[in-house]
Amino acid sequence: MNTQHPAERILMGPGPSPVPARVLRALGAPTLGHLDPQYVAIMDEVCEMLREVFQTKNALTFPVSGTGMAGMECIATNLLEPGDEAIVCINGVFGGRMKDVMERCGATVYAVEAEWGEVIQLDQIAAALELHPKAKLVGIVHAETSTGAHQPLDGFADLVHSKGALLVVDAVTSLGGHELRVDEWGIDAIYSGTQKCLSCPPGLAPVSFGDRALAIMDSRKTKPQSWYLDVSMLRKYYTSGGGGRVYHHTAPINMTYALREALAIVLEEGLENRIERHEKMHLRLRAGLESMGLSYIPKRSLHSLNCIRIPDGADDAGTRKRLLEEYGIEIGAGLGVMAGKAWRIGLMGHGSSIRNVDLVLAALKHVLGP
Ligand SMILES: *Cc1c(COP(=O)(O)O)cnc(C)c1O
Repeated sequence: MNTQHPAERILMGPGPSPVPARVLRALGAPTLGHLDPQYVAIMDEVCEMLREVFQTKNALTFPVSGTGMAGMECIATNLLEPGDEAIVCINGVFGGRMKDVMERCGATVYAVEAEWGEVIQLDQIAAALELHPKAKLVGIVHAETSTGAHQPLDGFADLVHSKGALLVVDAVTSLGGHELRVDEWGIDAIYSGTQKCLSCPPGLAPVSFGDRALAIMDSRKTKPQSWYLDVSMLRKYYTSGGGGRVYHHTAPINMTYALREALAIVLEEGLENRIERHEKMHLRLRAGLESMGLSYIPKRSLHSLNCIRIPDGADDAGTRKRLLEEYGIEIGAGLGVMAGKAWRIGLMGHGSSIRNVDLVLAALKHVLGP
């Protein structure tokens, strides 16, 4: 195997998604110092573009250094203190991870669960808040990449806020591919990643904190246990307060160039057009898969991630191996309880195209046989 020159794969798994050449070229621009005024201006542009894509006015919106999981850890470690209580919705792998991460912050976490592939109902959260009135936050995954379920969020914030809690959202696989309105939906803290619907390489985790979350952070009794992800220090670098920029850690300079280019592409296309494209491509894939007799696992499927049942008699690993070797197409295996039962076909960002949809359908038809 030649490891010298990575192959040009067609990335149609659960992420990373295909990265446009424009974004890869942006990575290669000269590395600036992280306090260079030119770099600081670039970072400001990135934060402003992130606000547009998150549809928020939140001043504290920036890319955390690290992948989506760093965004999850950042929000958990800054909002929770030892002894706090939290509610986390679990209907797949990532809800389970959120609970684990929050417990590591010293919080007692109560799970609200739904079957894998199902979504969480508002009345389940209402019952949990009734039972645990001290819960400081409710965490929920908007796009559960492990099952392909699309979680509705409209109206959730009103309920959560009425009990004095914060709404925390995982939008790793929805930002830039699904409708997501941080301010309108009342989301208090949200994190995402670069390598899903934004079509940028992995390495940054866009986050945004609203006023309620800021007030919680400002009234902490203890320091967050993570120094690296402590927002009280990070904000002195990422937001231009009167005191100028304060060094905390060296920002991933070239990744910031890549993210700026990826966000520019999102905004050039227009957020609404992009979301509509993701829906159309999902419907096109769905029609093709269903005409081949394949079926979806979630009732309410994401547009960015299509989780389908492996048909009886089909060879899970063998099919994926042939797609990769013969067509250069990567699709995802089932995760967690869906291992061996599901395939996950991502249509994220740049990869959500007629070309990719028709190609994966033709390739699957060929590999699965008549
Ligand atoms: C991919 C993903 C993550 C984790 O992101 P990484 O970039 O792999 O760290 C978290 N939540 C969801 C819903 C995801 O799809």
